[in-house]
Amino acid sequence: GALPGWDRVEELVVEAHRRHSADDSGAVADYIPLLGAADPSLFGLAVVDASGGVHDAGDALHEFSIQSISKMFVYALAIQAHGHARVRDIVGVNNTGLAFNSVMALELNGGHPMNPMVNAGAIATTALMTGADADEKWERIRDGLSAFAGRELPFDDEVYHSEMKTNERNRALGRLLSSYGRLTGDSDEIVDVYTRQCALNVTAHDLAVMGATLADGGVNPVTGERVVSADVCRDTLAVVAASGLYERSGEWLFEIGLPAKSGVSGGIVAVSPGKGAAGAFSPRLDSAGNSVRAQLAIGHLSRSLGLNLFASA
Ligand code: GLN
Repeated sequence: GALPGWDRVEELVVEAHRRHSADDSGAVADYIPLLGAADPSLFGLAVVDASGGVHDAGDALHEFSIQSISKMFVYALAIQAHGHARVRDIVGVNNTGLAFNSVMALELNGGHPMNPMVNAGAIATTALMTGADADEKWERIRDGLSAFAGRELPFDDEVYHSEMKTNERNRALGRLLSSYGRLTGDSDEIVDVYTRQCALNVTAHDLAVMGATLADGGVNPVTGERVVSADVCRDTLAVVAASGLYERSGEWLFEIGLPAKSGVSGGIVAVSPGKGAAGAFSPRLDSAGNSVRAQLAIGHLSRSLGLNLFASA
């Protein structure tokens, strides 16, 4: 089945936004200095259905850096380039049960990154991008994510520089991957590209379009462009379901029943295969680094639209 008619979805999106706009629990991330300056009252919600119908509420057109949400789309591009088996051998698909920037998760697993939705695995995934050098990899990431969004995504230079000043930990993960022979190329250059991909700007509306492209078997339902294959969408969404909200992924799947990916700037995208996607943004995070209001609003929509993948009725 599809989503209900446009008017009904519009009503539910507006309601999900209104219901949760007063929640002020959680805290804005500040380990990347510039993120700490975000206005915590911002709250945007958007839904795009698999046939391209669009719904925006609140600050749905406010731009923020995509951060970790880039991981799922770069992973999709890597599978598109190299295929299921090769990528599966290089980056695992199990949840780490540890924080997104954990070094332990990599060490405990003999240097084999456990999944592409946390930093170690994401850095290894970025290294898989095709291109002769770091600049070409970056270009392909930017073009690929822009194709998912259906517009040229702007690069936030300030966020990039702010993170580059404070990303010793990601550089350490890059070096560790290299030491285990799990990264080809210069690890600092790969971490630089990874940091750039995290500094691409999106809106909640963009996230919904990007997610809807995965819901629609890899065709952007707004532009009509094929970005990846349907097999790539299936693989990506399975990994996102297992690890998209870090160590909270199981709780999320249990309560809400949709693959979803978060980022520390406050964005979340959730995908309902075949139906559409929701994008949400609000800067206050829970202790795992997932936006509180975005989880509440998307949870609300999953229930009101009957999207839980595990529900038989
Ligand atoms: N750029 C951030 C980092 O690497 C992304 C983390 C996130 O969004 N959870 O630390």
